[in-house]
Amino acid sequence: MTRVGLGFDLHPLVDGRPLVLGGVTVESDRGLGGHSDADVLSHAVGEALLGAVALGDLGRHFPDTDERYRNISSLVLLRRVVELVSAHGGRLVNVDATLLAQAPRLAPLLPEMAKRLADVLGLAIDRVSVKAKSPEGLGLLGREEGMAAMAVVSVEVTE
Ligand code: MG
Repeated sequence: MTRVGLGFDLHPLVDGRPLVLGGVTVESDRGLGGHSDADVLSHAVGEALLGAVALGDLGRHFPDTDERYRNISSLVLLRRVVELVSAHGGRLVNVDATLLAQAPRLAPLLPEMAKRLADVLGLAIDRVSVKAKSPEGLGLLGREEGMAAMAVVSVEVTE
């Protein structure tokens, strides 16, 4: 059986934090605020994976009240999500993700983000798509108050 999962995440841009997207540290004056490294792209992918097998969301598995997850690399969390999905008979087929960010310009870094994600997910690079869209100056994303990401995944599940 083929199942799909949808993930969405949003984090505020704040001073004094590194900007980590898809496991790649991006040069930026500000970074994303959150309990972990706040890697909004990895979180959206993780939410999609959990959604495909109806296992809830990241907050349920990695609560932000747990000190073990403070500033943790979200790639570590994503690896654990893949293990959870595998334990439920799921095998990831492909990922398609979109970052929503006004600045900085992310296009040159997208292949590296896709590669990092593919490595953690155990997928060939041609099964991982990472895109970026500008919010065209509109709304909270356009004012650079935060960044958002969306992802869909396809998972083969043996019953
Ligand atoms: Mg998040």
